[in-house]
Amino acid sequence: MAESESGFSGSCACGAVTYRIAGEPFAVRQCWCRHCQKLAGGGPTHNAFFMADAITVTGTVASNARGADSGNELTWYFCPGCGTQLFGASSARPQMRAVRLGSLDQAHDLRPSAAIWLQEAPAWVSIDPALEQHPAQPPTPPPSD
Ligand SMILES: [Zn+2]
Ligand SMILES: [Zn+2]
Repeated sequence: MAESESGFSGSCACGAVTYRIAGEPFAVRQCWCRHCQKLAGGGPTHNAFFMADAITVTGTVASNARGADSGNELTWYFCPGCGTQLFGASSARPQMRAVRLGSLDQAHDLRPSAAIWLQEAPAWVSIDPALEQHPAQPPTPPPSD
């Protein structure tokens, strides 16, 4: 790993929000659902999954939420000043956070191992064949510890 000790740090584009994360993620995925495409500006979101209590945030984070087709509520967290997407959460797994890979400080060695919700991806998308591929939502990987 890139940090001198176990864990990660991140920030929004304007620097008003910073965070630290203890430990390692238990999954890294890209999500092509329509909702993520809106958040990401056309591509997928790239998410590293951590336990929420492993994340320490400094600064003010805004959030918004909506109901998903599954009946779960999806919450997304962002910097109110610059709009950078920082975290996502689902009411189905409230103890977990999806940390947006782009908000993590470089250098880190995280990379997606799976692409999900490919049935909602645009036709022009070319998916890396090395990725595990799922048309919709696969089972949630268990925390490693
Ligand atoms: Zn910001
Ligand atoms: Zn998604």
